[in-house]
Amino acid sequence: MTVVTPKKNIVIVGGSCVAIAAALEAKKSLPSTHRVIIIEKHSHFHYMFAFPRACVIEGWENELFVPYTNLYDSPEKGQVIQALATNITKTHVEIDRPIEGFGTSIEYEYLIYATGARHPEPGNLNDHDTKTGAVQRLKEVQAKIRKATKILLIGGGAVGLELAAEIREHFPEKEVTLVHSRDRYMPSYKTSMHAKTVAILAEFGVREIRGDRVIVPEGGFKDDFKMIKVATRDGKEIESDLQIMCTGMTPQSDLLSKLSPQSINPKNRLVKTKPSLQIVDDAFPNIFTAGDVADLEDIKTGGAAWRQGITCMKNIINMISNPETPSASLTQHSPMPPQIMLYYGVARGLAQLKIFFMFCTSWNFILKRFFSYNIHASRSWSWLGTPLSKETADK
Ligand SMILES: Cc1cc2nc3c(=O)[nH]c(=O)nc-3n(C[C@H](O)[C@H](O)[C@H](O)COP(=O)(O)OP(=O)(O)OC[C@H]3O[C@@H](n4cnc5c(N)ncnc54)[C@H](O)[C@@H]3O)c2cc1C
Repeated sequence: MTVVTPKKNIVIVGGSCVAIAAALEAKKSLPSTHRVIIIEKHSHFHYMFAFPRACVIEGWENELFVPYTNLYDSPEKGQVIQALATNITKTHVEIDRPIEGFGTSIEYEYLIYATGARHPEPGNLNDHDTKTGAVQRLKEVQAKIRKATKILLIGGGAVGLELAAEIREHFPEKEVTLVHSRDRYMPSYKTSMHAKTVAILAEFGVREIRGDRVIVPEGGFKDDFKMIKVATRDGKEIESDLQIMCTGMTPQSDLLSKLSPQSINPKNRLVKTKPSLQIVDDAFPNIFTAGDVADLEDIKTGGAAWRQGITCMKNIINMISNPETPSASLTQHSPMPPQIMLYYGVARGLAQLKIFFMFCTSWNFILKRFFSYNIHASRSWSWLGTPLSKETADK
């Protein structure tokens, strides 16, 4: 009689860039003794890269939320479970709802902690768990932008910059003011990225205030379209009837902090990692972390998260064949060179790319060939096994 041994689980908490990269890597070489279980609270993968444009241009929002249903064709090979992870023990991840075959607790042999970070809406739609809810939220933001006449964007990171350009491109009659706390945009990149950004913002007629901060009222802005004067720390006053927060991120490390307080950096709440991407806690050599929640030198981008997800999975596969592998003998992470591509409306862009040993910045003319109306969202449909088409877009 053949005895079927149940598969051991590699559980990934968070189903975004880290998880998808790790899952695709596992498909190449994970031994058949193991399978990947992704726990993700959203019903669909959120393609955030295109949210700034989707806040302004209507009619294609459904392309930015991709079903997980075809990533695996059987639970034996892997599974994406829609649930909120509520607790992590030494052996299990507890979830907020019962799931067939697991109940409310999922056993793991290895864990990748990939819960990412929260950004203010609309840069991130963290609290919208269904596709309908997330699409609806983008439509609400579009309606607000259509209705407003003077828009204040708070934060000149990638999201604020892209949003400013998109709004002015599609609604040149609206006044857009962008307030950035530093003197320089994109400080982790070459100074020419800043200089070109300033030039592009000027072309779009975005009013910029740098090296100053908006004083955000307690409880936030009211969102009632009343024309108000918003003060800055330096004493300026900005008139606006819509204010949009595009400020920084908050790592979602609380869940892990209960199991392993020592792995959390108290200064920034990011998860401390060894070069192998195991968490900095020798009690848990089987727990890895990566992406926006991880305390790594890399700039927080989807590309960096993707690369780290692959390293986590490679190291787990290595440890499955030899569980005693010392951390230093696993693949060691090296930071990804700072690279980025920004979309400034549909016909302008700016990128820093590493070509051989040189960092180059390039813009409109060279980048034109890479432009895509949906910021290449179609690729995420391919990653998840449901090619994007008119028929699949609403799934
Ligand atoms: C508007 C915007 C545009 C961007 N554009 C680009 C770009 O053009 N190129 C680029 O490379 N990068 C871009 N980035 C950055 C990129 O999106 C992030 O670096 C990347 O998504 C990080 O991936 P991650 O897997 O670490 O986590 P995240 O993408 O933050 O995802 C974490 C996931 O974990 C889930 N989760 C969290 N806690 C739980 C829990 N307890 N239970 C279940 N699920 C949970 C969340 O729902 C979420 O899906 C952009 C970011 C934003 C906000």
